[in-house]
Amino acid sequence: MAALAGIIGTKPFPPPAACRLCGAAGATVIGTRDRTGKALRTVICPGCGLVWTDPPLANARDYYRDDYRKAYKGTYAPKAKHVLRAGQVALSRYAAMRDFLPAPGGGGDVSILDIGAGGGEFIYLLHTLGYAVKGLEPNRGYAEYAIREYGLDLDVGFVQDADASSGTFRFVTLWHVLEHLEDPVAALGKIHSLLDPEGVLIVEVPNVEAVCQSPAGTFHEAHLFYFNSATLRELLLASGFRILSERVSGDGGNLFLAARKAPPDAPSRRAAEIRGNAERIAAVVLAHTPLRHYLTARPYVRFYRRLCRSLGEKWAVRRFPGGKALLDGLYSRAAR
Ligand SMILES: [Zn+2]
Repeated sequence: MAALAGIIGTKPFPPPAACRLCGAAGATVIGTRDRTGKALRTVICPGCGLVWTDPPLANARDYYRDDYRKAYKGTYAPKAKHVLRAGQVALSRYAAMRDFLPAPGGGGDVSILDIGAGGGEFIYLLHTLGYAVKGLEPNRGYAEYAIREYGLDLDVGFVQDADASSGTFRFVTLWHVLEHLEDPVAALGKIHSLLDPEGVLIVEVPNVEAVCQSPAGTFHEAHLFYFNSATLRELLLASGFRILSERVSGDGGNLFLAARKAPPDAPSRRAAEIRGNAERIAAVVLAHTPLRHYLTARPYVRFYRRLCRSLGEKWAVRRFPGGKALLDGLYSRAAR
């Protein structure tokens, strides 16, 4: 980890705590700024390669409950373009997990819990397809919108506070949620108890090795943890799951993983050191410099795609009659 010494700027902060995954001490600074240029210390565990924001965001729960969507999207409830975009993302997420889902109505309810349900677009899609689905979302503005607009079964709150005795689910989905949790290990323990014995967990997180975005955009105060394939896999294995499938998105930006609960008699496993993983991640992050990035076609293709998307969204939502009507149109076209 000697290669990281040149960017260390640790003086204002106490030494990083031990790694929440493998328990190793001696985390090393891998980033000193967030995507807006504000000071933000990001560290990497030398034992396993887990990356986290240190110190973590103060009052993280208040932030996610009240301000997160405002900070991210500039709004307290989704606007038409957000609903459209999230509806399109919901369709791609359904396609990603479809191989693991039995057909709805095929005998017995397939119960699904979507944690971090946002504006409810994904659970509304599953509901439309005939699944028994429930959502959990900490952000009040988005959760209240989803309940009001779609009439969904959605609780406002954090997974850490979920009551495992209230029932179990065959599927739990975590789309871009794990990186926001204060303690992913504890949260996965709670999710394990929310799944029935045959339960399947679907996870997608940003890939810390991604180079599709600007180097300045790698670290962000709302991301409390960062994973690569190896640390995500280790986290799931140490939380009592068996891996069914894992893949990296085409642009390298996201990691998808499906896992089933291990049988009750399976030996429990503690997270172990992942040899060479911290060095691998550090090498990717430190090599992702603005000069190299802007000498590739990636930023220009990304800009062009975003511009096209923005213009397309303006056209698509020009007669926006409300989120439900918009999603009904989108989902019915996709189902044909
Ligand atoms: Zn570690």
